[in-house]
Amino acid sequence: MNKVIFLDRDGVINKDSFGVTPNNYVESLEFFQFADNAKEGIKALTEKGFDVIVISNQAGVSKGFYSEETLKDITDKMINEIEIAGGRIKKVFYCLHQTSDNCDCRKPKTGLFKQAQDFLGHDIKGYFFVGDTERDVIAGHSYGLKTIAVLTGKATIKDIDNWKEQPDLICKDLVEVAEIVSR
Ligand SMILES: [Mg+2]
Ligand SMILES: [Zn+2]
Repeated sequence: MNKVIFLDRDGVINKDSFGVTPNNYVESLEFFQFADNAKEGIKALTEKGFDVIVISNQAGVSKGFYSEETLKDITDKMINEIEIAGGRIKKVFYCLHQTSDNCDCRKPKTGLFKQAQDFLGHDIKGYFFVGDTERDVIAGHSYGLKTIAVLTGKATIKDIDNWKEQPDLICKDLVEVAEIVSR
């Protein structure tokens, strides 16, 4: 059984689009830009024997900012470019709902982790979830995961300091995550 690590997408694998794109989402293919050291970090995680699974809110779909088809194109591009760099994404789980849909999968709810656990067929408690927001930390802890906040997304060290729910670890980027989790 492989070790597993869960990654948020925006602000962790790719640059967050808040304040950058018209609707603040990665709403078309050209807005998908890898975060610093993300491809290198996922390559390192893959080489160290981790199954990498993406857990991401994409409410822009239900808000009508981009289609499921566009999201699939973005996902394909992400997976392909990571493979070219020597890494591998095993599976991607998205919540396409917005808060008013009151679904059970939009983080900080834990439905996406439940889906991932069902897919893997074994307990995932104790594994790491890497995110860039307090919402990620709350979601991960609610499902019994350990959490890492990275500084490639929305939050600075100062912001994280003010979160009520504190991550277990803080890392600069995914390369540092790969070093720390494989110790
Ligand atoms: Mg994020
Ligand atoms: Zn949902």
